[in-house]
Amino acid sequence: MDYLAGLNPSQRSAVEQTEGPVMIVAGAGSGKTRVITYRVAHLVRKGVDPFNILVLTFTNKAAKEMRERIVSVVGQEAKNIWMGTFHSVFSRILRVEAELIGYPRNFTIYDSDDTKSLIRAIIKEMNLDDKLYNANHVYGRISSAKNNLISPQEYNKNEAIMAEDIANGRGQLGQIYMTYAQRCYRAGAMDFDDLLFKTNVLLNKHPEVLHKYQHQFRYLMVDEYQDTNFSQYLIVKRLAAVNENICVVGDDAQSIYAFRGANIQNILNFQKDYPDVQVFKLEQNYRSTKMIVNAANSVIEKNQNQLEKNVFSENEDGEKIKVTRAFSDNEEGKIVAEAISQERALKSLNYKSFAILYRTNAQSRAMEEALRKLNVPYKLYGGTSFYQRKEIKDLIAYFRLTFNPNDEEALKRVINYPRRGIGDTSLEKILVAADKQQYRLWDVVVNAHSFLDGRSASAVGNFGLMIQSFQAMAKTSSAFDTAMHIAQHSGILKDLYEDKSVEGLSRYENIQELLNGIKEFSEREDLEEKGLDVFMQDIALLTNDDKDKDPNADTVSLMTIHSSKGLEFPVVFIVGLEENLFPSQLSLNSRSELEEERRLFYVAVTRAEKKLHLSYATSRYRWGTLNNCEPSRFLDELNPACLELDFQPRSVATGMDGGFQGERIAWKQKEADSFSKPKPKVVKTTSILPKAHVPSAGFAPSDTATLQVGMEVEHERFGFGKVINLEGNKPDIKATIFFKELGQKQLLLKFAKLRIV
Ligand code: ATP
Ligand code: MG
Repeated sequence: MDYLAGLNPSQRSAVEQTEGPVMIVAGAGSGKTRVITYRVAHLVRKGVDPFNILVLTFTNKAAKEMRERIVSVVGQEAKNIWMGTFHSVFSRILRVEAELIGYPRNFTIYDSDDTKSLIRAIIKEMNLDDKLYNANHVYGRISSAKNNLISPQEYNKNEAIMAEDIANGRGQLGQIYMTYAQRCYRAGAMDFDDLLFKTNVLLNKHPEVLHKYQHQFRYLMVDEYQDTNFSQYLIVKRLAAVNENICVVGDDAQSIYAFRGANIQNILNFQKDYPDVQVFKLEQNYRSTKMIVNAANSVIEKNQNQLEKNVFSENEDGEKIKVTRAFSDNEEGKIVAEAISQERALKSLNYKSFAILYRTNAQSRAMEEALRKLNVPYKLYGGTSFYQRKEIKDLIAYFRLTFNPNDEEALKRVINYPRRGIGDTSLEKILVAADKQQYRLWDVVVNAHSFLDGRSASAVGNFGLMIQSFQAMAKTSSAFDTAMHIAQHSGILKDLYEDKSVEGLSRYENIQELLNGIKEFSEREDLEEKGLDVFMQDIALLTNDDKDKDPNADTVSLMTIHSSKGLEFPVVFIVGLEENLFPSQLSLNSRSELEEERRLFYVAVTRAEKKLHLSYATSRYRWGTLNNCEPSRFLDELNPACLELDFQPRSVATGMDGGFQGERIAWKQKEADSFSKPKPKVVKTTSILPKAHVPSAGFAPSDTATLQVGMEVEHERFGFGKVINLEGNKPDIKATIFFKELGQKQLLLKFAKLRIV
């Protein structure tokens, strides 16, 4: 069977072992994803119905590429394979089964904006302090509860969780979670985490449904298994329980989503869950040069928590890794853009061969500006998605209401946009009425005269009639005709048309682009159902990358390291290698967080096939102020034999010659000299432990009477910071302090050992 010829013996055995549990834990670029692709092709070749195969990938893009590969080997029938991200596959299943768990089939998917807006509204209703109950933080807590399958009821009964919340001064979190879940339910909406949480509920409560899918998905495969959370893990485990034909692939060294609840333990548990698992090892890296593989190994070996792996490459030795120092982020952008232009010409490469990877989205600005100046075409991945733009969300909110009139977030968004004389007070009354009397929102809207007076009642009533007319239209007309009708009759098109500013024009064009997309969709011949409701189904799950009009365009790719997972490029630039940026400031609290940053660096390094460039700036604007930066500790950790520096590191009188530690200490000394304030003594930072902070003497529980907003303080453990807020009454005054090294923290003054400097 020659289609298996492109595999080495271990890969081939993993592909041919189609029955029973299989696990492949192997290093970057060793062909894990390739094994899954070939395995699916092999199954179909052997006669397995594509409908019986489920493949879970980490991004929609990965699923799309894999499907194309498989179609090229086995033909069109591969289109029927169930393949996609956890969220997209299980939202599809929930559409079919939603009614069993009390949701409409046309349930809305709340995206993170909807979720945060709802959380904010609840916090306000409960009269809670929105700084203490920061919507992002609350969202994080609810999300993590759901991903650990803790329902609101369980959350509120769990003494340990409640005690933790109370200790943090956030004793109402459980109640917020409870109300949030009720509101989503009332709105017929699920948020991202619900798509997995409710799938678990469905499979748990309805054995007949579980049974159906267990028999349908005779073969299961999961890529990037190291980044699954508990909720995902359990879905897979349940579905695989009958046939046990489950193959997972992953790399513990590339687990980079712990902050979202991913758990490396899932890999280790796999062997416990399936004692007869067949484990395959892949050690040869086919992606990168020897130089890059050696460099990557030298970094990851600094992590204590990792499975032993020996990754090697038989590719060419390759060029050394180039390290560049820039004076500012703008200069860094310029250096990168010039290097791309030169290297492209010198090596006859196309732009597509280059990628620029960064730790945080904000870093793209300097890169984009520099690329534009040199006319280098680029594409930004994972930036604000097309579907997240305001005008698109507005129109989609009308679509959402048409199919699910209970969708509260959509209603709030457009009930008075374009303006139709419905003020906040009327909206509030509608929401309160629905809440108090447990009415469906929609019933309140269509019976507006019972809840509101005079003009507001008729304005709301007319809005209801308009949505009803859209509903009627949607029943009989094509997706495009319905969408066009809604765009016109809602008043959105007119509103945007009248705005003659540049932004207004681009918004108008975006709406046109959306309508064009719907037109294309309604003319597709491969779909049986092509109503606007079907088009709408996954929209909240789409990203910018999925709306890529021309995936083959010749452009440089810009993206965060998180979104580069699984991808590869001939030439990679990793920018912003500075302490407090990469590793991130927030990761310096514990070894495990620092190890996650290191894995992230490992992921970045291993994206490169032929050539890797690293760079850092010695100063950078952050939060509006210019900061001096020191080179990232990760530069120290790379095997120096793999590096080529384009500058002479400043060596200082520390007895060390050169190296980035020299740079860093030089930087520290410079900093120490330039401040008159007493500074912590400069200590040599080891490569692994977070920086030690040597406190000055004289700490005592704070004198709450003298502390004021704006004062600079030093904390025994957290170092220097500035007081940005004080709240509460004696003796429970809480201070919000922005620490230079650690960012914002809230401290109860009666315990905090602070010194005013
Ligand atoms: P990551 O950990 O980054 O997800 P991976 O283990 O999934 O990497 P793949 O993306 O499957 O690795 O493979 C890396 C590259 O090596 C791809 O370009 C792939 O086509 C190539 N490759 C893998 N195995 C072979 C092989 N046996 N022969 C030739 N090329 C191969
Ligand atoms: Mg892969």
